[in-house]
Amino acid sequence: MEFTPAKPAIYGETLESLTALLQEHGHPAFRAQQIMAWLYKKRVKTWEEMTNLSRPLRAWLAETFELEPTGFVLTKQSEDVTDKLLLELADKSLIETVIIRAPQLGVGQENSRKTICISTQVGCAMGCKFCASGLEGLKRNLSAGEIVHQLIQVCRQEDSRTPRAHAELVSFDNLVVMGMGEPLHNYDAIIRALTILNAEWGLGFGVRRITLSTSGLVPKIKLLADEPLGVRLAISLHGATNEVREQIMPINKAWPLEKLLPAVKEFSEKRGRMVTLEFILIEEINDSLDQAEKLRDIAYDLHAHVNLIPYNTVEGLPWKRPSLTRQEKFARILFDGGVSVTLRREKGHAIDAACGQLRLKTEKQREALTTG
Ligand code: SAH
Ligand code: SF4
Repeated sequence: MEFTPAKPAIYGETLESLTALLQEHGHPAFRAQQIMAWLYKKRVKTWEEMTNLSRPLRAWLAETFELEPTGFVLTKQSEDVTDKLLLELADKSLIETVIIRAPQLGVGQENSRKTICISTQVGCAMGCKFCASGLEGLKRNLSAGEIVHQLIQVCRQEDSRTPRAHAELVSFDNLVVMGMGEPLHNYDAIIRALTILNAEWGLGFGVRRITLSTSGLVPKIKLLADEPLGVRLAISLHGATNEVREQIMPINKAWPLEKLLPAVKEFSEKRGRMVTLEFILIEEINDSLDQAEKLRDIAYDLHAHVNLIPYNTVEGLPWKRPSLTRQEKFARILFDGGVSVTLRREKGHAIDAACGQLRLKTEKQREALTTG
């Protein structure tokens, strides 16, 4: 399931591991800090730009590491609120990283809040019936370096649009691990990547502004609760009873609600943080008022926030989003029950399209090209 590139990406190294490697090869330990600064503060694209390093060290780095594990293919803008970066990996797989600009009242586009959505796998093994990412199963895990490099690509993109006020700042506000793939199914790589993004010598991005979304791998939720890295957690619930949930999420057979919900409760108690329950509203699948009542009770018990997301249609899949009246009725039941709830509006349509759809389209176009 892992792809072994000719050289590992340098973005997968921590300060500690890079220091150890340098010393092992007879280079001074303090060089590691300098290299990290070139990668994460200056975001250079070539080894030659690392001008304060000796020539032999640069040669060793070039021999040992891949500096650009993802290649920029294109950006696709939609409705002015999202930019999708399509990136190509060394094995030609495609992944996408999404930049979501939430306009703020009274400020211009450039000052809007930016949320970045990253991918963690090529495809996904979880096979949720409504999701484009899972349609063709899992192709492979991303390495920590490939995960981290998505953010470097975003920083470069954003730096060219909005020059940073301070050269070392990162020009986005939130990071959500909600792109293609199930992050907890690639556990070690995602933890390593987030550690690098959070580190002072890395991007220095605050963990409180990072949300990881999972379809509910219970043992991994338990592990995550004990990690030193205090990221926020979102659960893709999408069904308030086993009956409804297992129709659309095969993972519910292995980890049904009676196992999942106590793990979520434990997480939120250990961390002292509100967890978010994501609930896609799909017409006649999970949008009944009975589901709303059950969801209200679950959320109330967990002190969780509920994010209702009108389903975003996927080419080739039969599902539809319920009418606006239906969506609002559903939300109202939660609201009246004292649950903190948000319902994404039409603007959010593009925002929620993060999950694998662009990649799928491009893969199809590529197939069409090669098969004539
Ligand atoms: N695998 C993880 C994270 C990636 S999916 C997870 O499932 O949580 C990110 C979110 O997008 C999930 O809540 C997922 O259920 C949702 N999603 C997938 N397909 C969607 C669609 N067609 N419309 C709206 N949301 C969708
Ligand atoms: Fe995978 Fe998440 Fe899509 Fe389910 S919703 S198939 S877990 S990416």
